Amino acid sequence: MRFLIIFLMLCFVSLEAQDTDRKIQFPDIEGYKSLKCDLHIHTVFSDGHVWPNIRIDEALKDGLDAISLTEHIEYQPWKEDIPNPDRNRSYELAKEYAKAHDLIIIHGAEITRNLPVGHANALFISDANKLMIEDAEEAYTEARNQGAFVFWNHPNWVNQEKDGIPQLSEFHKKMIQSNRLHGLEAVNDITYSEEALQIAIDNNLTVIGTSDIHGLIDWQFELAEGGHRPINLVFAVDKTEASIKEALFAGKTLCWFQNILIGKEQWMNALLDASISYKRKGMIGPSSILEISLTNHSDARFILKNNSPFDFYKNADLIELEPHSTISLNILTDRVEGALPPLSFDVLNAVIGFKENASIQFDLGRR
Ligand SMILES: [Zn+2]
Ligand SMILES: [Zn+2]
Repeated sequence: MRFLIIFLMLCFVSLEAQDTDRKIQFPDIEGYKSLKCDLHIHTVFSDGHVWPNIRIDEALKDGLDAISLTEHIEYQPWKEDIPNPDRNRSYELAKEYAKAHDLIIIHGAEITRNLPVGHANALFISDANKLMIEDAEEAYTEARNQGAFVFWNHPNWVNQEKDGIPQLSEFHKKMIQSNRLHGLEAVNDITYSEEALQIAIDNNLTVIGTSDIHGLIDWQFELAEGGHRPINLVFAVDKTEASIKEALFAGKTLCWFQNILIGKEQWMNALLDASISYKRKGMIGPSSILEISLTNHSDARFILKNNSPFDFYKNADLIELEPHSTISLNILTDRVEGALPPLSFDVLNAVIGFKENASIQFDLGRR
């Protein structure tokens, strides 16, 4: 009996841990909230497999702050069963269902064409029906007239780009120049394109990462096996739709994909600063070995590669900093003469450009 009770208690504890673990957690950065957003989602109102309320329940389980249901305007494979003459219907149902919750629903739609135009999401629209325009350029113009933030979806999609390498077409260049295209996906579903990240950096576009979910989040991203859905972190002054819109137009984002953070250096550095804190503990006994600790306040399992002249008493140069945990490092300070240089790491799972990683430094103080 006693064993049974202990066993039941253990089950309860682990279930509870699992439930809270699922919520994606990143700390706010200086001056901004780190809002968790998935801005590319489908339901049965285009080619997805679930009703809109399921998307809201999934988002709440994942601890998201905002989502957008971005149904294909032109691609309606279930129309025999679900005629869907009003392309705003998915948004309206989601908005109604989300009323009882602290989740922002952004009105969006996916403008769907073959290359060289490809697919694009328009967010913060007022009327999806008005985007039903045959000419792609005119559809983008209508989105701009509605004040939309528009991003190019899955530019690396192998169904459209056989080599998986995105190419910025003349159409896209024209859309960027005329303020009709503002971002692109470096992350879509289970794919990540370093080339797309570099296109965003070179063309001053906002870096977007989305699930583009059609089935169930739990199955597609293997949550039971420790996976997580891809999201954008959007750095907004407040948790409001207006603030998210401002942040997206200003490019204040990172992507979170398969334990990798992806985006522009400025925002990466701000998030790393907020996510990893450093504490100097002092020299160990009479030795010249300095003990410090690093604490991770985020969901990322950081993979750090020492690039400073020090080495460690108990660790090799490759260090894993588990989510929401603290590690202690013992530094052989006599490796260098004179004043101590900063302790410095490449963050291997923080990507800020094509084959380029972020780095972090900690001032070790006096010897
Ligand atoms: Zn698409
Ligand atoms: Zn899509």
